[in-house]
Amino acid sequence: MNILILGSGGREHALAWAVLQNPKCDKLIVAPGNAGIAQIAECAAMDVNDGGVVAEFVSENAIDLVIIGPEAPLAAGVADRLREAGVSVFGPSAAAARLEASKSFTKEICDAANAPTAGYGHFKEAEAAKAYVRTQGAPIVVKADGLAAGKGVIIAETVADAEAAIDDMFGGSFGAAGAEVVIEEFMTGEEASLFVLVDGDTCLPVGTAQDHKRVGEGDTGLNTGGMGAYSPAPVLNDDVLAKCMDEIVRPTMAEMAKRGTPYSGVLYVGLMIENGQPRLVEYNVRFGDPECQVLMLRLGAQALDLMQACAEGRLEEAQVTWADDHAMTVVMAAEGYPGSYEKGTVIKGLDALVEDSFNVMFHAGTSKSEAGIVATGGRVLNATARGASLQEARDRAYAMVDAVDWPEGFVRRDIGWRAL
Ligand code: ATP
Repeated sequence: MNILILGSGGREHALAWAVLQNPKCDKLIVAPGNAGIAQIAECAAMDVNDGGVVAEFVSENAIDLVIIGPEAPLAAGVADRLREAGVSVFGPSAAAARLEASKSFTKEICDAANAPTAGYGHFKEAEAAKAYVRTQGAPIVVKADGLAAGKGVIIAETVADAEAAIDDMFGGSFGAAGAEVVIEEFMTGEEASLFVLVDGDTCLPVGTAQDHKRVGEGDTGLNTGGMGAYSPAPVLNDDVLAKCMDEIVRPTMAEMAKRGTPYSGVLYVGLMIENGQPRLVEYNVRFGDPECQVLMLRLGAQALDLMQACAEGRLEEAQVTWADDHAMTVVMAAEGYPGSYEKGTVIKGLDALVEDSFNVMFHAGTSKSEAGIVATGGRVLNATARGASLQEARDRAYAMVDAVDWPEGFVRRDIGWRAL
């Protein structure tokens, strides 16, 4: 079959790698892709947020399945446009993508489904929001309702900080995303994520992971898109996983179907777990990046069968073959990230890496120049490895990191510390 993947990050490199492990794949095109993806698949430049452009490409290239990596094309309705044209798509409709695009929408679905999550208030103007904060006290969480690239969440330690954050959001610092604000109870516990394939009614868990969002060792410093991840997440044991599926995922997915907007694609379930009880922090409507990298390395060739079954509404017949293994990815970032950083620095040593089904260097922000492979983003490479234990996966991932010669890059040396 011919497959098109949309996206250009480490997540899409991992998806491409997994798809190519499966002999079913005859041809793979990634749009727009990156320098690492270009080493294993054909890359095509295109505006992936324009459903018309993608649909035309699909028909010209006899594509059988489209896998949508990032949230932007989903929120823009690219999956809808393709489904209208009769194309198999892995990714939800724009209506279902609201689970990520609107925090108040997700809260409302949780209420209707009786799913455990933080208590909250939803506000369209500052005074009422501030009055609510004063009745609740601090710490408390102030969130811009819409998409704000991970920056629209303020954990306020005091009522005054919360009030300032509310003024800031209604003052327009997050643009349209902050026109409405959700105020949440501050939850304590351990965070982990669960990935579930959903095809309207059937929900199939395909893996768990934990990531490190902060830039500094010991989980300190500024928030980033993620500095590393590992799978499985020990805190999501069988018992907690069953609770997540029974109390959160299945009831909310049933509620989506009941409203005429069934969910189809991968659901990223962000959880807070305390004393064995999970509560929903957030839904995302796509694989996490870098969590996707560890999941794909663990799933290998079956990832394509699962995504295809999901796109075709055949998840009921699908099964995941679990290996008793562990995977870790270490993000190599440009010095200065998540602040400003230099672009175009040369990365050496990539050609000499020994890559196999246990060790893969996924590219997140690279391109090819006359000088060789150069960094073009903040998060640049993902050293990803698998092993019989998390320690083994970790040793392999850092061995890859150490084999790369890139003086302008840095990594966190403590990925997985909690689990190790
Ligand atoms: P954005 O919408 O800006 O992209 P996001 O979708 O990443 O942000 P959330 O996942 O809702 O935002 O929150 C980001 C992080 O903030 C969470 O991973 C969690 O660590 C913390 N957080 C969010 N809500 C709560 C809460 N109610 N209690 C405690 N911590 C929270």
